[in-house]
Amino acid sequence: MSYSYEAPVSQALFDRASVVTPGGVNSPVRAFKAVGGTPRFMVSGDGPYLTDADGRDYVDLVCSWGPMILGHSRPEVIEAVQAAVARGTSFGTPGEGEVALAEEIVARVAPVEQVRLVSSGTEATMSAIRLARGFTGRAKIVKFAGCYHGHVDALLAAAGSGVATFGLPDTPGVTGAQAGDTVVLPYNDLGAVRAAFAAHPGEIACVITEASPGNMGVVPPRDGFNAGLKELCAANGALYISDEVMTGFRTSKAGWYGVDGVVPDLMTFGKVMGGGFPAAAFGGRADVMAYLAPAGPVYQAGTLSGNPVATAAGLAQLRLLDDAAYAKVDAVSAEIRGLVTDALGKEGVAHRVQTAANMFSVFFTADEVRDYEDAKRQEAFRFTAFFHSMLADGVYLPPSAFESWFVSTAHDDRAVERVAAALPAAARAAAEATGTGVDA
Ligand code: PLP
Repeated sequence: MSYSYEAPVSQALFDRASVVTPGGVNSPVRAFKAVGGTPRFMVSGDGPYLTDADGRDYVDLVCSWGPMILGHSRPEVIEAVQAAVARGTSFGTPGEGEVALAEEIVARVAPVEQVRLVSSGTEATMSAIRLARGFTGRAKIVKFAGCYHGHVDALLAAAGSGVATFGLPDTPGVTGAQAGDTVVLPYNDLGAVRAAFAAHPGEIACVITEASPGNMGVVPPRDGFNAGLKELCAANGALYISDEVMTGFRTSKAGWYGVDGVVPDLMTFGKVMGGGFPAAAFGGRADVMAYLAPAGPVYQAGTLSGNPVATAAGLAQLRLLDDAAYAKVDAVSAEIRGLVTDALGKEGVAHRVQTAANMFSVFFTADEVRDYEDAKRQEAFRFTAFFHSMLADGVYLPPSAFESWFVSTAHDDRAVERVAAALPAAARAAAEATGTGVDA
């Protein structure tokens, strides 16, 4: 594919970066490998817009992969951060900001009786798994193919499907021993979970699932799936861990728990709760959390955990996220989904827009996507053409067909109009696309 626009400053930065950083980026999807072309190096963000190093601006439909639910540079958040920075950036002691952020989380999400702050979603899920193993005295964990829980060794096992398939490491560097206690099952398949418990009686410490998956594109749980997981875990003495790193404080005031009401034993959070800073958390039942050091024997720690600047940003953001804010994000999401459907429909492009509250993604297939295998059957090469046309017309989409799109309270009529204006050409490009996908 040839690109009808150029980004010489971003390209020069990418060339420089590639000398000193593997692949030129600090997190793989940013490199545009799935879609090809030059990754945009961003220099600033304002409301719904990002500006790149070449001076072009874009309507941002990635929102830093979820955190920027109020848009970029929201004044109240910036002021809270500036005030915190002025008081000092890290003390390595307890501080009131951590208490206030923990109280805010506990107040919003009823199943969370106690919460521990960490610095990334990866740390949150890693620690929750350790705690579940420590609490139950069991080794095995169940996860679902297509669910991403950060780059925790045991959770990078996603290969295999079917009943009680032992996870094979997905990446060099993860040993068979690290992944060997991970059972990977197809998503949305309670029968497979039932069979796994039957195959490993008394051995499974926990089932971890994205509360509503967004990392294979948006694939919401079928009615009763999460409730069924909870029931099966309870019946078999395992903990049910709901990973709300992506959905937490985004899909409602109380995240996905606020949508389906299923009560997990443990939950993990990140993204929105950090207000654009590295803050994350895990929490849940007080009797389980009591196993955590220094109250209990399961060790977990962090030099920058509860960092005062990150907690100030997160707290300021959460306090602005009231019912009106969620209503606004939901409305913008619905508007953009409608525009995408119209544009692709007009060009006769087979597609499905799948939704979980205000999260959504576009699959280039006519069929419902219920699990990772379904997601992989889409015509991803159409997304590549669609993505580059949108980018050329100033709309920044996630550079992969397997990611959720995110909007914010700052996406106003002007931003939505820019998306609407870009869509017809992108839909045409998707319709005309041929091939099998990656064009790097
Ligand atoms: N869990 C889920 C559901 C996620 O979407 C992510 C990141 O995208 C993580 C965990 C890992 O979070 P982090 O990237 O902050 O380590």
